[in-house]
Amino acid sequence: MTAAARDVSDGFAIAHTIHALPIVGSKAHFPVRRIYCVGRNYVDHIREMKEADERDPPFFFQKPADSLVQDGGMIDYPTATADFQHEIELVVALGRSGRKLDVANAADLIFGYAVGLDMTRRDRQRDSRDRGLPWEIGKSFDQSAPCGALYGVDRVGYLKEGSITLAVNGKERQRGDISQLIWNVSEIIANLSHEYELHAGDLIFTGTPAGVGPVGPGDQLQGAIEGLGELRVTIGPRRG
Ligand code: MN
Repeated sequence: MTAAARDVSDGFAIAHTIHALPIVGSKAHFPVRRIYCVGRNYVDHIREMKEADERDPPFFFQKPADSLVQDGGMIDYPTATADFQHEIELVVALGRSGRKLDVANAADLIFGYAVGLDMTRRDRQRDSRDRGLPWEIGKSFDQSAPCGALYGVDRVGYLKEGSITLAVNGKERQRGDISQLIWNVSEIIANLSHEYELHAGDLIFTGTPAGVGPVGPGDQLQGAIEGLGELRVTIGPRRG
């Protein structure tokens, strides 16, 4: 959103960018602190990935805040992959701090929701998984977190259900419903709050339904969640 140069020592200046999302119906922006993501949270996606136990507790990884891409943006086709894939996800934005929360009061932290894409280097993710390595290369790279405008709970209430879809070049690839989340939003927040202290500005990507697949240069992605509008991004050329 804004960039300000800051001198840190003689001869050096760091351009420090605050990454923020627009808030529907407000002139204010939501400054993003951290991006957490949930792995494996819809049964049909676990089955298509041939993953293990569908009742495993939720697990988390992070993406850098500067991997955010705004609605309408273009994503370079990333280096170091031959299988760049989309995962459409409900994003939860937190407006308050909390730690070691119970499920019953976890929703108090929610500021609002958005449509997001957990872009993935699938070949690298699978390779890391098979070798027991961290997922960073597959998940936490530049421009890997497109996210649409935030809809506050004051506008849309607490989401329990609603369709979630993704189309590529106008053709539907993914379809699910928020009600199909294995771990619902309150359970995700409560679980995560036992591993990290959560703060205002944190985003949580909540997992993807079935139908993930590859994209290529020139493809136009259109994600939608009932009540939360749309997210549109275009895949740009391969980076040399
Ligand atoms: Mn995901």
